[in-house]
Amino acid sequence: MTTTTAADSTFDVISPATGRVVGVHPLGSTRDVDDAVARARDAADWWASLGFDERAHRLDAWRGIIARRATELADLVHMEMGKPRADAMLEIAMALEHLAWAAKNAGKVLRRRTVRSSALTLNQSASVEYLPLGVVGVIGPWNYPIFTPLGSLSFALAAGNTVVYKPSEYTPGVGVWLVEAFTQAVPEHPVLQVVTGDGSTGAALCRSGVNKIGFTGSTSTGKKVMAVCAETLTPVLMECGGKDALIVNSDADLDSAADAAVWGGLSNAGQTCLGVERVYVHESIFDQFLDRIVAHASRIRAGSDIDAHIGPITMPSQVDVVRRHINDAIDKGGRVVLGGPDAVEGQFVQPTILVDVPENSVAVTEETFGPTLIVSRVRNMDEAVERANSSRYGLGLSVFSRRHGEDIARRIRTGAVSVNSYVLYAAVPGLPLGGVDDSGFGRVHGPDGLKEFTFPRAMTRQRFPSVLPLTTFRRTRWVDSLVRFLITLLHGRN
Ligand code: NDP
Repeated sequence: MTTTTAADSTFDVISPATGRVVGVHPLGSTRDVDDAVARARDAADWWASLGFDERAHRLDAWRGIIARRATELADLVHMEMGKPRADAMLEIAMALEHLAWAAKNAGKVLRRRTVRSSALTLNQSASVEYLPLGVVGVIGPWNYPIFTPLGSLSFALAAGNTVVYKPSEYTPGVGVWLVEAFTQAVPEHPVLQVVTGDGSTGAALCRSGVNKIGFTGSTSTGKKVMAVCAETLTPVLMECGGKDALIVNSDADLDSAADAAVWGGLSNAGQTCLGVERVYVHESIFDQFLDRIVAHASRIRAGSDIDAHIGPITMPSQVDVVRRHINDAIDKGGRVVLGGPDAVEGQFVQPTILVDVPENSVAVTEETFGPTLIVSRVRNMDEAVERANSSRYGLGLSVFSRRHGEDIARRIRTGAVSVNSYVLYAAVPGLPLGGVDDSGFGRVHGPDGLKEFTFPRAMTRQRFPSVLPLTTFRRTRWVDSLVRFLITLLHGRN
């Protein structure tokens, strides 16, 4: 929770677990944002001029600092947003894999490469290279305050951009920590800066004239960001919400599927964009599967002590959303098999599993962002695919089936699918991550994630005068008839 002081110039960070103030940060104004963007603009040429190898060297140094001080960073994440320290460490491990990949591969993906010319342009040597956009603004969420922003920061920086970062008001300390660590690796110029604040600070960043906004957050905020960016035609990367499903076929390894459903649904207290919120299970194994997940999930406990498996709900307002979804599911005929309305205890929500929930319940249609699973029986995989695809979101999905996993996966309309595992596409550094529909557009990670923060510059160099001069008023009738002939020769037989 954020409260502003009398001067309205700072805000407090309140631990969701204890209610205590765990940090005080400047509430960044429009002027603070504009000043940071101006400094980033001044530093942009220097950073771009370092080239891929030197930038990789600096990004590797940053990675080393984060790795050596990882315990400190995990403690900070735990303190600000409440997840267990071990989960924060897992997040750091995954984020560093992507940082390493971006540094190592930026040159390979973005460097100038030649492109074949065509019959009409044989005299041209063609090439394309991917150039940095300039200054990128990154707006991040609190649920994975390292992994998600680094998905944009690492790739934007490796591509040669300078960056101004606005972390969530719930995890500003983590943002400041990351930028301080970067400054140790790159002390010369303000290549990566942080401006702490709330939504108004984020909105100021959208208006600041940056060359692109990399946004990760909810779909509703994403729409506001787009609307503001539209005024200046500022391009946007939208990594938004999800309502991911997990499909279990009759030939699935039920233990693995149950383990994935419980981890996918409950870890991080369900506050995961790629979290499992819906489970569609073949009717022939439904009861066995349900027994397994209920047994497993009933051993998971939310709390703030060292033995708790999951932490609190970070945003106070989200507790009401989770409660509303559970109540709506029950009101519409859903049955509680674990947890339920009583599972909501202050800022903590204990694991909750519901069955027989109609598809029109908000618990099925909207992002819940709590440790809840809606488990539904399906007659066959056609029905599972249809129901999984009926969401307005399209971020990720998991399929469990020994023989038909990939066939089912190919019928799914989401940015990523994992077969017989959960979420591992987000851990493979060469793969793009992002969604379709209400989950957003554009990609972080992999070659697509690097290209996201560049613009392609095409170039042709004339190697010798063309025997077929086309783009001149000196073109002859003979050339015109040859063009007519070539059109038929090259395309007329199709
Ligand atoms: P929000 O949309 O509330 O906030 C995201 C960021 O936007 C925060 O830094 C927030 O600042 C800022 N912001 C708020 N209002 C504005 C505005 N008008 N203009 C510009 N910036 C603004 O999301 P949460 O932080 O609550 O994150 C959870 C959401 O993020 C979930 O929907 C989740 O699914 C999604 N997400 C998506 C991921 C993906 O890869 N697709 C990954 C992780 C999360 P402040 O916090 O200070 O208000």
